[in-house]
Amino acid sequence: MTEPTIPQLQPMPEDWRRALAVVAHPDDLEYGCSAAVAAWTDAGREVAYVLATRGEAGIDTLAPAECGPLREREQRASAAVVGVSTVEFLDHRDGVIEYGLALRRDIAAAIRRHRPELVITLNHRDTWGGVAWNTPDHVAVGRATLDAAGDAGNRWIFPELTDQGLAPWNGVRWVAVAGSATPTHAVDASAGLERAVTSLLEHRTYIQALTDEEPETYARGFLTGVAKSVGERFGGRPAVAFELFGR
Ligand SMILES: [Zn+2]
Repeated sequence: MTEPTIPQLQPMPEDWRRALAVVAHPDDLEYGCSAAVAAWTDAGREVAYVLATRGEAGIDTLAPAECGPLREREQRASAAVVGVSTVEFLDHRDGVIEYGLALRRDIAAAIRRHRPELVITLNHRDTWGGVAWNTPDHVAVGRATLDAAGDAGNRWIFPELTDQGLAPWNGVRWVAVAGSATPTHAVDASAGLERAVTSLLEHRTYIQALTDEEPETYARGFLTGVAKSVGERFGGRPAVAFELFGR
């Protein structure tokens, strides 16, 4: 008699040097992805973050003018924990990001500046799987990032970027989508998981507004739970899952 086998996720490609993560909000990368980032920076790879907004609409009790700078500080501290020192903000408006040419152009410009082989983004689909509805910001930024990976390489799509000194970059080989309900690949999170917890905890003001749970219990519970469930499809090791799109 044979045990039923769970289809396993493939290891992420390793033949790259630079990654660029493009997401909508502060904390998007810390909710599951940053253990992979820690593993990559440990291995000497460069990872930079680009955020479409400063997350200024993310805390009900805090007005955007106060909230934006605070969440920017929390995001920079959070990135530093996993070895990321470059964090940029595109200053689209939190909650009402529009998918369109302006967003594609801003992301294509970031890809040309950083020249990554691997681009990371967050779930661009309508749901997280089942009936858990995604937010319009994640959908817009995820889709625009998948599209901009191509735009960045074509000198005729946004010619004004070339005029600004940003030469086309055709070197993006993959776009990896975190938080996908249909992942294909994974990264071992064993070494990075503790730092991922610390990294999520840097979003302290946000977490305190979100839950009555003690922040460390909350952050550890969430991240170890997700890593363990991904691990069931990755040889039993705690892991971070991605849906990998080739180019
Ligand atoms: Zn978000």
